[in-house]
Amino acid sequence: MNELKLSKRLEAVSSFIPKNSILADIGSDHAYLPCYAYLKGLIERAVAGEVVEGPYQSAKEQVTKTELTAVIDVRKGNGLEVISPNEVTCITIAGMGGTLIQSILENGKEKLEGVQTLILQPNIGAKKVREWLVANEWELVAEKILEDEGRIYEILVAERGDSEKPYEKKKAASLLLGPFLAKEKNAVFIQKWSQELEHWKKIVSQLEVAAPTESNQEKKKELQYKIQLVEEELDVENS
Ligand code: SAM
Repeated sequence: MNELKLSKRLEAVSSFIPKNSILADIGSDHAYLPCYAYLKGLIERAVAGEVVEGPYQSAKEQVTKTELTAVIDVRKGNGLEVISPNEVTCITIAGMGGTLIQSILENGKEKLEGVQTLILQPNIGAKKVREWLVANEWELVAEKILEDEGRIYEILVAERGDSEKPYEKKKAASLLLGPFLAKEKNAVFIQKWSQELEHWKKIVSQLEVAAPTESNQEKKKELQYKIQLVEEELDVENS
């Protein structure tokens, strides 16, 4: 029997895939996600895209081993260049930085025709992804934050719609923290932002004794602004 155990992180990503999707998993590496999604009956078929030879080969091996070559097409290429417009209905991009995810979406905009759902899991820099979604008329419809093997991950799910809707209140804080995550404020969310606060405050105190160059002052101001946004959201008093 073809059993495949996914990490808690990828399993959470898969939980947002709409039933009967035609999936493109970009930066698929080992292709665990599309294989698992097919075996779970979530998708009809998939494209697994990889730009690097090693991961591309391991995706091909995994798909062959799982006997899914008829339904999962492993393609080598950069970002969304591996798919055509109207070919897939759902795209997953997981395990990369937010800036890379944003640039993959931006560079492949014309390939998003026919896509109904984007499931994006930036390891860092989720704000960049939210900003891209707002600017491109993708409405954030769900978010999840979770801890897996000692690391904290965010998952962003978007559909076509009113991209400003989730940010009606406190836009700057919502872009940074995530409007759904900030509303839910679960323990992982508190942990993530408490750690960030501690880290930023340490940098601010280092900048306070560093040479008062323009760039140091700029950096300090930016961090103080972010500290204020996050403290307001976490309800930190007397800081
Ligand atoms: N998506 C898998 C996951 O979440 O476990 C793999 C994540 S792995 C850290 C990131 C993968 O993305 C690497 O295999 C890398 O080669 C691939 N990648 C990076 N930039 C890419 C791009 N522009 N197009 C396609 N794949 C890319």
